[in-house]
Amino acid sequence: MARYRDAVCRLCRREGAKLFLKGDRCYKPACPIEKRGTQPPGQHGNSMRRGKALVGYGQQLREKQKVKRIYFILEGQFRNYFERAARMKGITGENLLFLLERRLDNAVYRAGFSTSRRQARQLVNHGHILVNDRKVDIPSYQVKPGDLISVKEPSRKNIHIEGAWQTASGRGRPSWITADGGDMSARVASLPVRDDIDRLINEQLIVELYSK
Ligand code: SF4
Repeated sequence: MARYRDAVCRLCRREGAKLFLKGDRCYKPACPIEKRGTQPPGQHGNSMRRGKALVGYGQQLREKQKVKRIYFILEGQFRNYFERAARMKGITGENLLFLLERRLDNAVYRAGFSTSRRQARQLVNHGHILVNDRKVDIPSYQVKPGDLISVKEPSRKNIHIEGAWQTASGRGRPSWITADGGDMSARVASLPVRDDIDRLINEQLIVELYSK
């Protein structure tokens, strides 16, 4: 499991974007990006970087780091996703994002069973999540259209899961996952499309980086 020792909000400030790593706080005015903007970490930001726009390799590297952090993926695994995306039909950069979106931990977060991908990964690892009524505890499991994702019956009373589920519609769900509010389950309605994924991600920069 990916572990970062920095305070997670520093990662957002370093990438200059909201990465939604901290659950409910990310959606509130208490988010440091909302309060202070995107100044890099450090008392006065990093003076070497201030005023200098990243270009070329630096920009490509930052974009890869940003996406790795959003999806909470380590380098080797990320590289494997890229190689798989490059072998698929279609646009490599988009394929990469679609593979990341279809991870079970991401789908659990997107469906609204957790307020962050980090929390979603814990739920999967700890066996709280069912796919088509069978326990799946592999966060990288790729969901497919028609899959029913749900929370194990005894875990539905978990205050974190219940709280996340109740506020999920306020955070918004992507078009490819439909929620069935009654029994705390969600259906994978289709494959993800590019419009479901953060438009601030420039996946082409990652393709350029790995194509060197
Ligand atoms: Fe922290 Fe979330 Fe805001 Fe990022 S988006 S700075 S993780 S509160």
